[in-house]
Amino acid sequence: MTDTDVIIVGGGPSGSTAARRLAQAGISVTLLDKAVFPRQKPCAGAIRNEVSAALDFDISGVIQRKISGLAIVSPSGIRVDCIPEDRSKPGHTIMREDFDHLLLKKAEEAGAVVQEQCKVVEVSQDSAGVTVKTEDGREIRGRFLVGADGINSIVAKQLGFYERWSSDSAMVAIEIEAEVGAEKVHEICRDPTGYDADIFFLYFGDVPHGYTWCFPKKMHLSLGICCRQDKAKNIRAAYQRWYERFADEHQIEPKIVSDSAARFPVRPSPTLMRGRTLLVGDAAGFVDSFTGEGIPYAIRSGIAAAEALTRAVEKNDTRGLQRYVELCKKNILKDLKVSDSMAKMFYKSTKNMETLCRFFRDDSYASYLIAASIGGLLPMGTVKRKLTLRMLRKRPRDAISLVR
Ligand SMILES: Cc1cc2nc3c(=O)[nH]c(=O)nc-3n(C[C@H](O)[C@H](O)[C@H](O)COP(=O)(O)OP(=O)(O)OC[C@H]3O[C@@H](n4cnc5c(N)ncnc54)[C@H](O)[C@@H]3O)c2cc1C
Repeated sequence: MTDTDVIIVGGGPSGSTAARRLAQAGISVTLLDKAVFPRQKPCAGAIRNEVSAALDFDISGVIQRKISGLAIVSPSGIRVDCIPEDRSKPGHTIMREDFDHLLLKKAEEAGAVVQEQCKVVEVSQDSAGVTVKTEDGREIRGRFLVGADGINSIVAKQLGFYERWSSDSAMVAIEIEAEVGAEKVHEICRDPTGYDADIFFLYFGDVPHGYTWCFPKKMHLSLGICCRQDKAKNIRAAYQRWYERFADEHQIEPKIVSDSAARFPVRPSPTLMRGRTLLVGDAAGFVDSFTGEGIPYAIRSGIAAAEALTRAVEKNDTRGLQRYVELCKKNILKDLKVSDSMAKMFYKSTKNMETLCRFFRDDSYASYLIAASIGGLLPMGTVKRKLTLRMLRKRPRDAISLVR
């Protein structure tokens, strides 16, 4: 006897998306989350256009700012604006408490049973189904399980997907929400071409293998730093130095609305499916190691999991789940691999970061390619190929120096 076809642990973007799609397909689905929504989630809150395009409902009510591009600032302070002329696919910024709450409500609206304040403490699976135990002593039985429970996934650990993220496969981040008022936000982040939108900033050179950022929200700025965990020894001091410089440059004395630290994984789990269980989103390690974006992959993996699980439930056959692995290879892992090789090259040294930023500054097509990849106008693989060829042709010496 099962209580539900699919149990999903975690109601972030990956779990909510999977739950909505499954419910829409007529599959009974129960989603459990330890938090009460709207819940806080440390995040810079930038989403590419593909995120709103992939969701089958309007998210305009939770959008903070429209984003037309980005500016990168090199270790020596050179600013390069990367703004595509094609305005058809703007990105956005959101607050995670609003965005995630909306996604969860949309899952519930589609028919998913959502249980908040429901911490899962034990999971197991056998040949007939899966069992989930909650902190308050409940036991729920289902036919299939989805681990959408983020970087510290209890599903992944207890079912033998992996033990932990090694320090070179996770990033550490500090993020503050600094209230400066709408006008100041726009003054700092306005699109320099005069288009009615804002841009975000990535600063390189303050930390090894990472960056600091400034992302515009309605009334405040998300100001943060992230770097690979094995390089993060001095991250707090590096952040403080950068923050003081930033505040001084822009003459701000913000009210700090929140100050938090968190980690995210940057290496896909070696296994995505075991028995009757799938991992999605951060639990599966689906975050871009170059940019730190995980929301697009959380959504893509939620959609892929729902597609595979719908088949598996209908046929009552775990072999249907293999489809999930195939979809991930095609729609997620290929992109993440390309990003990872770009990250390895870019973050290898301060010298490499400087060389590449200067190349983007001097070559408008190269800066367009960066904008197009972040904006989702071009696939990462295409961007990497074009950038490599262009650099080899225009700056052969620099290209060689990057790999030395
Ligand atoms: C500081 C920071 C900035 C970021 N900025 C960006 C950005 O600008 N753009 C972007 O695309 N990505 C960004 N990311 C990455 C992004 O936040 C994640 O990739 C994304 O949240 C993954 O979604 P998810 O649904 O897989 O997991 P999560 O959003 O982490 O959701 C997991 C859910 O599982 C629940 N849960 C956990 N354990 C249990 C349990 N035992 N029982 C029940 N429930 C449980 C949690 O309460 C949570 O709601 C950032 C990450 C960090 C840390």
